[in-house]
Amino acid sequence: MIEGGCFCQNIRYALDDGKYPSADCHCTMCRRIHSAPYVTWLVVPIEKFRYTAGTPKALKSSTNGTRYFCPSCGSHIACVNTEHPDIIDIPVGSLDNPEMAPPSGEIFGDTRLPWLPHPAA
Ligand SMILES: [Zn+2]
Ligand SMILES: [Zn+2]
Repeated sequence: MIEGGCFCQNIRYALDDGKYPSADCHCTMCRRIHSAPYVTWLVVPIEKFRYTAGTPKALKSSTNGTRYFCPSCGSHIACVNTEHPDIIDIPVGSLDNPEMAPPSGEIFGDTRLPWLPHPAA
């Protein structure tokens, strides 16, 4: 089982063991919402994911996208999109073991910050 959660541990989740793809997202929404230069996302089939503690708050961030975050500490822990409802995106930084999910690519490279040192392989 793969586990993770928010900073304050109010929200916890678990994923079935498995190999899931991950990618760096350089979109301006991820940048602003996470207050970070970019966000590395793990792409997980929704049936492999479950919350094991707490209830996140929803933020509708675009026409099709909804972000989920901890109402106590504010950590963002999930993103879903109605264009692919079978998938939930999990920020790799919220995993207990983020080392397991190196990004294999990037998306929205057109808005990638020019001072970032290396594009993902
Ligand atoms: Zn929290
Ligand atoms: Zn993004």
